Amino acid sequence: MIIHSAPDYHIYFGDAKDRMFPDQYKNWNDFSLISREPIIPLAERLSLHALFFLKQTHSSQGYVVNQTMLKKSPPFSKEGDFLITQESRVGIGVMSADCLPVIAYDKKRHVVGIAHAGWRGAVVGVVPEMVNQLKQVYACDPKDISVFFGPSAKRCCYKVGSNFSEQLEAYPLHDQLLQKQGDSLFFDLPLLVEQQLTLLGVASQSIRKEYNTCTICDTRFHSHRRGSSLGSGNRVGRQMTVVVLK
Ligand SMILES: [Zn+2]
Repeated sequence: MIIHSAPDYHIYFGDAKDRMFPDQYKNWNDFSLISREPIIPLAERLSLHALFFLKQTHSSQGYVVNQTMLKKSPPFSKEGDFLITQESRVGIGVMSADCLPVIAYDKKRHVVGIAHAGWRGAVVGVVPEMVNQLKQVYACDPKDISVFFGPSAKRCCYKVGSNFSEQLEAYPLHDQLLQKQGDSLFFDLPLLVEQQLTLLGVASQSIRKEYNTCTICDTRFHSHRRGSSLGSGNRVGRQMTVVVLK
């Protein structure tokens, strides 16, 4: 677990110690999330008044988290893959195990966003859609947005099938996203999202990758790929990534 603290916000990058399991947290669709184990220590460390997650579906859908949303909709009650908010001490988070958590912060508008981008979500444009919502709802300028990538499957281990390139044909820079090694093909998910962000006007020096550890080869993290390869009886957990405005 790492907490990245900046003057205006905290980001929590969890790991396998989070011990979050979908079959368990999907039933937590009431308002008691920050008073549940194992969320309590996180809520205390980040001084959270509330914490919001979605039922993730690898889509490009997302929501603005405001006071009305917090009163009406419990965490995990809505489907989607990104959240944006201007509310202080309201954590917004994603669960992942190989998919890329993408955090955005706009220093001028004082807003944050978080997206869950596996290859499906990345290809349908969940991260560009989050940036578009930040522009529309809060008048953010992509030039003022800083981005952090959390832990995800990376090119060292993210093996894909020979037909996978068809998924990427719509992207102008797609030939950089796949690397051949012998008979195998490896996909660079963080690079796809980085390309999407820079095309929208986010500065490449504002995209920070020091927390983007590979979940497949670094066993400190939950990995769907690594877990599934151990057999169907293996219950694969998720790590949490949470951003909160102070
Ligand atoms: Zn790796």
